[in-house]
Amino acid sequence: MKADIAIIGAGMAGASLAAEVGGRASVLLLEAEARPGYHSTGRSAAFWSETYGGPKVQPLTSASGRFLAAPPPSFSERPFLSPRRALHLADAKGRPALDALCAEFSGGAVALERLDRARLETMIPGLRAGWDEGVLEGSCTDIDVGGLHAAYLKAARAQGVRLVTDARVARAERRGTGWRLDSSAGSLEADVIVNAAGAWADEVATLVGAAPLGIQPYRRTIVQLRTTPPAPAEMPLVIDALGRFYFKPEAGRLWLSPHDETPCVAADCGPEEIDVALAIDRFERVVDWKVERVEHSWAGLRSFAPDRLPVYGFDSDVPGFFWFAGQGGFGIQTAPAAAKLAAGLLLEVPADPLVADIDPSPYLAGRFRN
Ligand SMILES: Cc1cc2nc3c(=O)[nH]c(=O)nc-3n(C[C@H](O)[C@H](O)[C@H](O)COP(=O)(O)OP(=O)(O)OC[C@H]3O[C@@H](n4cnc5c(N)ncnc54)[C@H](O)[C@@H]3O)c2cc1C
Repeated sequence: MKADIAIIGAGMAGASLAAEVGGRASVLLLEAEARPGYHSTGRSAAFWSETYGGPKVQPLTSASGRFLAAPPPSFSERPFLSPRRALHLADAKGRPALDALCAEFSGGAVALERLDRARLETMIPGLRAGWDEGVLEGSCTDIDVGGLHAAYLKAARAQGVRLVTDARVARAERRGTGWRLDSSAGSLEADVIVNAAGAWADEVATLVGAAPLGIQPYRRTIVQLRTTPPAPAEMPLVIDALGRFYFKPEAGRLWLSPHDETPCVAADCGPEEIDVALAIDRFERVVDWKVERVEHSWAGLRSFAPDRLPVYGFDSDVPGFFWFAGQGGFGIQTAPAAAKLAAGLLLEVPADPLVADIDPSPYLAGRFRN
């Protein structure tokens, strides 16, 4: 197996970048698992929120939104976004956090509307006393994550990208100006290695002899609940202003997270009972609904660079090693813009029009090296 570019990891990051660069270079997309999307990509809460990740992530999310709402027909006949809205909810303690959110986005890039208790009650049935203020982010949507990931893999294949599953890369060594990689699916050669390994990004850096950037995986838990009353389909995503929970309706059920962020080593993680209990306890302090059953719970890893911004670009110390990592809690909603920006950097060509007005410098891998 030989290619111009070997991309390690076929989650949303690797798949989207493969679709962008395939056809312009020969690409091998290497995935350790039998099924691409098995890790973080397959475990998300599936929302697109322009405030999520903060003002420096927002340009990536907003540009991606334009693509996701109206993808080119050759990519998908259907949009990937569907209306949801987000409600940032505060009790007395959370009020300063709501003020801070409004101040961060006061430039008008994201429309936010302050709501009083009476408006909140029309949106959240059974809202308990004490939750008196909110901010509505009307543009927030749900994302069809599985559909988007599948569309990227299909587009990549159509561009000649070869996806190899059960191919965990375990070694990499320099061969002339390129690389030889050893994986559980055999050996291969490539001119450039792309690190799209999600929670394993720093481990993959070590394999090629690059210094890790401190990309830390954090566990996040989601529980699916059956409740009385059932979650109304039109209810917004409800996010605590202080980051203690979020919940949203999903096909007659409720998806609820305690917004946990437990540092972990990269691994196939599962939910801890304590986090499930914490989620339900926090939820029951917000509404008077009855939790009938925990139908399902899962956990996944969100991996952040030290400054919590994504990492794109060539490593400044190791030639031929490209970072596409640190996708944090926003790697789905930023995927189209991220992949287009990274493709420009990787192929050293001008950026795609979708991202032409985004300054890539806050995201460049070189920001961590002296
Ligand atoms: C609970 C939860 C909720 C979330 N909610 C949202 C949300 O609502 N919206 C949003 O935008 N984002 C959300 N996220 C974040 C989002 O899921 C991630 O940012 C995104 O999936 C990261 O994609 P990735 O491709 O970088 O990582 P992954 O999907 O983890 O893919 C990395 C892949 O690399 C492979 N790999 C690793 N090492 C090797 C190796 N040595 N050889 C070969 N392959 C290797 C792994 O097997 C894995 O499949 C959420 C995450 C979690 C956990």
